[in-house]
Amino acid sequence: MTAVDDTAYEPVIGLEIHAQLLTDTKIFCGCSARFGAAPNANVCPVCLGLPGALPVLNRRAVELGVRAALALGCTVRARSVFARKNYFYPDLPKGYQISQYEHPLAVDGAVSCGPDGDAGAVRIVRVHLEEDAGKSLHAADGDDRRTHLDFNRSGVPLIEIVTHPDLRSASAAAAFFTRLRGILTTVGANDGNMEEGSLRCDANVSVRPAGATALGTKVEVKNLNSFRFLQRAIEHETRRQTEVVRAGGRVAQETRLWDTAAGRTVSMRSKEDAHDYRYFPEPDLPPVEVPEAWVAEIRAALPELPEARKQRLVREYGLSADEAAQLADGAASTRYFEAASAAAGNPKAAAHWIMGEVARRLNADGVGIDAVGVSPEALGRLIRLVDAGAVSGSAAKTVFERMYGTGREAAEVVEAEGLGQIGDEERLREVVARVVADNDDAVARFRGGNRGSLGFLVGQVMRATGGRADPKLVNTLLRRSLSGDA
Ligand code: ADP
Ligand code: ZN
Ligand code: MG
Repeated sequence: MTAVDDTAYEPVIGLEIHAQLLTDTKIFCGCSARFGAAPNANVCPVCLGLPGALPVLNRRAVELGVRAALALGCTVRARSVFARKNYFYPDLPKGYQISQYEHPLAVDGAVSCGPDGDAGAVRIVRVHLEEDAGKSLHAADGDDRRTHLDFNRSGVPLIEIVTHPDLRSASAAAAFFTRLRGILTTVGANDGNMEEGSLRCDANVSVRPAGATALGTKVEVKNLNSFRFLQRAIEHETRRQTEVVRAGGRVAQETRLWDTAAGRTVSMRSKEDAHDYRYFPEPDLPPVEVPEAWVAEIRAALPELPEARKQRLVREYGLSADEAAQLADGAASTRYFEAASAAAGNPKAAAHWIMGEVARRLNADGVGIDAVGVSPEALGRLIRLVDAGAVSGSAAKTVFERMYGTGREAAEVVEAEGLGQIGDEERLREVVARVVADNDDAVARFRGGNRGSLGFLVGQVMRATGGRADPKLVNTLLRRSLSGDA
């Protein structure tokens, strides 16, 4: 792709998110809604769309939908209506999807994310309830050209969340989506699992000359099942559209798919093929009534939300807004931080450890904080050893690795593996003398006025001691040795 001056154009992005509600059963029948059962184990006449089977609305799905909507700052409507969205697809046995259309469950919310707080808020157009479709599995091995159908997902409760086109960059979209996921998981409406498809996102992207107010023609990008793909797809689409417009062309209104392997979006269908879904109110279901008293009860039971958590972490622990934002997105991260901080008696250090070593290890293992292999209390005690000068910062990382997943205590690892900090002046003076003797060049440079070479020599001492020397003491001893009064 040729380089273009991207600054002359800005992307405008709106997201449509589907989130599976964490109910035990499906939205209109008693079948299990859990992921991972054998294909077609969780089906009945209702979710298979057999003639004459009648849907009955799951009250818990409505409750979770209301929780999510309130957490997104929406107004919940006293009355919403299910409609039939008609289209043919093999994984949709009824020939229509039951979804809310003209009268959604909730409207007009806002989510603040990023350092700007409310100034950077993304407005929510609507939150509505709907059922999921089944799943088509296209066999691709050898001669098997069949498509297999699994209806376990058919009738699983979803909310669809639609944002205004308020986002202005791929990274802002990813940050918003992170915050949204944090909110949905915090209130227990959704498990945040993008790999299993319980949280999915479509991105609408257009470009316009920077500073313009009118919107450009939008392209909808589907199939974005990770934060990284969301960000990369928007970046790619922004570049692609910017090139089209700069070459004097017009962006075609269409639906595109993110092709992970190729790292680009590809056309799926043009908007001319847009379906006429022939929506009409679902005759087998009455309107959904959500009395004000129920809304008030659900609101009163909402847990602390990520934005409030973030502000509290700044206020109570003196963290920066960025640090707090990282620790506040999930309730579990915040709990872990608060426990580690209490045990360490040092909030800043606890935050740095969690965003550093702990996050690195969790990423490497591909798991979340729920599966962390060191208790926050044990981490806190390790931090105390560092603060007391018993373990050096770099040796502490080794101690942490040994503790991870073994249940061993920091003090025990330090003792057993001789990882304690060397604060013994006599011993260190020997190492310093050796390093000075072995590094004539650096010593000469230092004496010639190059202060930077001191850092190199400190590094050599740290290396010789396996990172266990007390760096402050090393510094002092080296300076003394180099100035000749060792
Ligand atoms: P449609 O009628 O095609 O469904 P909507 O107006 O309902 O379009 O918007 C669907 C999504 O697309 C929303 O998330 C909205 O914010 C976003 N959107 C609408 N217009 C644009 C645009 N010009 N550029 C980027 N996103 C847009
Ligand atoms: Zn069923
Ligand atoms: Mg629309």
